[in-house]
Amino acid sequence: METTDVVIVGAGFTGSTLAAALADGQRKIVVLEARAGRNPRFAGELLHPTGVGVLDSLGLLSPLRAVGGRRVRGFCVLRDARDEPLRLPYDEVPGGRPDGLAIEHQAMVDELRRQAIARPGVEVRCGRHVTDLVRDGGRVVGVRTDDGREQRASLVLGAEGRHSRLRGLLGIAPRQRLVSMNAAVLARDAELPAPGFGHVFLGAWGPILAYEIAPGEVRMCLDLPVGEERGAPAVIARLRREHAPFVPEPLRGALLRALDEGAIDLAACHAISTDRCTAPGIALVGDANGCAHPLTAAGMTLCLNDVRLLRDGLGGLDLGDRGSVDAALARYQDERRRFARAREILTDALYDVLRATDDGTRAIRRGLFRYWTSGPRARGASIALLSCAESRPRAFVEEYLRVVAAATGGVLRGEVNAPSLAGRAGAMLAMGRRAIREIARATARRATVQSAASRSSTISSATALANEAPASAIAMP
Ligand SMILES: Cc1cc2nc3c(=O)[nH]c(=O)nc-3n(C[C@H](O)[C@H](O)[C@H](O)COP(=O)(O)OP(=O)(O)OC[C@H]3O[C@@H](n4cnc5c(N)ncnc54)[C@H](O)[C@@H]3O)c2cc1C
Repeated sequence: METTDVVIVGAGFTGSTLAAALADGQRKIVVLEARAGRNPRFAGELLHPTGVGVLDSLGLLSPLRAVGGRRVRGFCVLRDARDEPLRLPYDEVPGGRPDGLAIEHQAMVDELRRQAIARPGVEVRCGRHVTDLVRDGGRVVGVRTDDGREQRASLVLGAEGRHSRLRGLLGIAPRQRLVSMNAAVLARDAELPAPGFGHVFLGAWGPILAYEIAPGEVRMCLDLPVGEERGAPAVIARLRREHAPFVPEPLRGALLRALDEGAIDLAACHAISTDRCTAPGIALVGDANGCAHPLTAAGMTLCLNDVRLLRDGLGGLDLGDRGSVDAALARYQDERRRFARAREILTDALYDVLRATDDGTRAIRRGLFRYWTSGPRARGASIALLSCAESRPRAFVEEYLRVVAAATGGVLRGEVNAPSLAGRAGAMLAMGRRAIREIARATARRATVQSAASRSSTISSATALANEAPASAIAMP
């Protein structure tokens, strides 16, 4: 048995950043990582400016740039291979930071670990699989590893990813669904239609995300239905047949060459959400709290929001003072939940609209493109939501209504699959139903968040008010 101030479970993206953020020269922080070597699973590589701001405030941005991190200026969306890229630049977000970051995931985690270990008081131990919690009455006071050892700590932070074991041990039941699969491919000698931008190509079964992670190297994440093809050769055949035609040349050629080499990584895309993430003496952080489909590339920005909240909430706190620690954790739970809910709602709605599988979503998608071409205000508001610079449900609802208004004009003019009066009426009805569903969801979730906040901590009214506060006050470091 060994005692420390903080034990962090998992030295992935979140755990490593968290260790660096909490290191204050006084605290002893032990990070336990199950894997002895690199994690072979494909994971996120593109960070929005809100997340980049947190990395910068922790002194971690320059080291990541030094190991190959590339600036990203925003997103481009293309409806098909012949379409002109529609740019959504970050610099159209008023007051926002203009640059995101793209970097190979393992290179990023390796560097973050190096940076954490270099800070006084931080130790990362690999090959230590945490299997259980150690409790003293109702309080978590440490963890147990698979070799039977106990690591006791004033505070336990679980950063072990979306399949968190600690979540189950705390009795937190997530809402969970498998949305799709992603095939990750590295296209070499490749060129993007708009260099410096992340790209979303539409038209295939699901969206294709592409961004440059090194000069001439473009990562492509191709969205696939769950469980239709078994084995890499069948998946590759499908990607060649059904996805590649929607990628413009010369990138398509680079994609096909990469598929010829057979090097794809398949990753499951889950939507996992939770309402609770703390108990006395412990908090869950990052994907351990849940995740959304990677379409909006916001997972790590959300992880960094958690890290920032904990750094601010625990900064200068005596971790031996259990009452103060638990109050800080309760505040963290309330604040992170609001941010995460906004993300879930936006991701689900956007995924539906960009896939556009029925008359209603097809009409809304046309409206969305019309809205984006209406000017920088519209694009700035959309990219603010997408990049987590804006996280109020009210802002989502307002933007959704603007898009629906833009879509309505198109439907009335007969820009639908069946332009007859009945066809237009049908599309209008389907669009209305879809809009009502999304708006009801956004407002219902918000009510849940507020009522949960009022039950769970003494800062309920502050949290409810924060719901209406300017997003920059909440989202930016
Ligand atoms: C296909 C795909 C594409 C994505 N694209 C993006 C993107 O472009 N942008 C973005 O922001 N996000 C993206 N994401 C999400 C992003 O990958 C995650 O948000 C991020 O990796 C979460 O980091 P984490 O450290 O919380 O969890 P993980 O990365 O899962 O790390 C958890 C760590 O904990 C360790 N661990 C697990 N269990 C234990 C245990 N019991 N004991 C000790 N250690 C343990 C693991 O070995 C691992 O090192 C994507 C996700 C997927 C699946």
